Amino acid sequence: MFYPTPSSKLIERLSKLPGTGITNPTRLAYNTIDMSGEDVNEMAKNLLTAKRELTYCSICGNLTEADPGGSCTEETRDKSTI
Ligand SMILES: [Zn+2]
Repeated sequence: MFYPTPSSKLIERLSKLPGTGITNPTRLAYNTIDMSGEDVNEMAKNLLTAKRELTYCSICGNLTEADPGGSCTEETRDKSTI
């Protein structure tokens, strides 16, 4: 099937996500294209912010804004207090 270049690039990029076949990325791309410009802009900002501000906790492996994460920092503090 022929897709215009901008949509084929979006489909190709989405298909690199784990667990996606070819149908889901195509559906995601078309749903994204159907969104308002404001919603797409907000989603793009959310992606960039998440990429920039999140990391994995070196103790538990959960996503966190700081390493070690808040719950691991509290556990360490609680153990040292006891
Ligand atoms: Zn942690």
